[in-house]
Amino acid sequence: MRLILLGPPGAGKGTQAKFLVDSYGIPQLSTGDMLREAVAAGTEVGRKAKAVMDAGKLVSDDIMNAIIDERIGKEDCARGFILDGFPRTLEQADALGDMLQRRGSGLDHVVCLEVDDDALVERISGRYTCANCGEGYHDSFKKPASEGVCDRCGSTEFKRRKDDNPETLKTRLFAYYKDTAPLIGYYHAKGLLKRIDGMGDIGDITAAIRKVLDS
Ligand code: ADP
Ligand code: ADP
Ligand code: ZN
Repeated sequence: MRLILLGPPGAGKGTQAKFLVDSYGIPQLSTGDMLREAVAAGTEVGRKAKAVMDAGKLVSDDIMNAIIDERIGKEDCARGFILDGFPRTLEQADALGDMLQRRGSGLDHVVCLEVDDDALVERISGRYTCANCGEGYHDSFKKPASEGVCDRCGSTEFKRRKDDNPETLKTRLFAYYKDTAPLIGYYHAKGLLKRIDGMGDIGDITAAIRKVLDS
């Protein structure tokens, strides 16, 4: 299954992708995570992307398309993948279509998570992750079972993203509505769009997505 998770920053794409990885046995391709790794490793891509990401703007289509083209060619993507954070522009969407066509495949679903702006701000301001395994948490909505200890790996080190602040979020939301939201119409026209109400409980949303994917 080849699937895109679409939605504004903080909508819950990463959170839902992790559940879908476990259910369907296909990898999550998070371009945000890949870029943050490139920045941490100090690669050429990382050096180019850092300032753009810190400002909440979009990294160039050329860089993003090259990253995804290489990634979906890897063996673990043979049975499918979950795209989380890509495509983010119409140009990336066209490029993805070409990449898949070249490989004789195509997309199965585009799941769009719909979340109110106020909730996005709330979700982003309370977001943090385990520094060791990357498990996602929230100050109010998803706390570890035992305070200060990661449920998944037991680590006590956590981190927050530099771009998860109210100022940068404004720029990211603007980029979403200007450059990414047009993809909703684009994939609707291709008959691939599935809209999911992203305002409920994390578990209810996972169930709603699974229902759409399994039908
Ligand atoms: P995205 O990948 O779309 O940017 P995340 O999956 O990282 O979003 O979620 C953003 C924050 O909101 C995280 O802290 C996460 O724990 C929390 N979160 C995700 N889904 C929900 C939900 N349905 N209700 C409340 N909080 C949520
Ligand atoms: P979000 O929580 O907003 O969904 P991501 O982790 O997906 O955040 O992305 C973080 C940053 O990485 C973005 O603000 C942007 O600068 C960059 N980025 C990630 N994916 C893309 C993409 N497909 N195109 C351009 N920039 C991207
Ligand atoms: Zn952990």
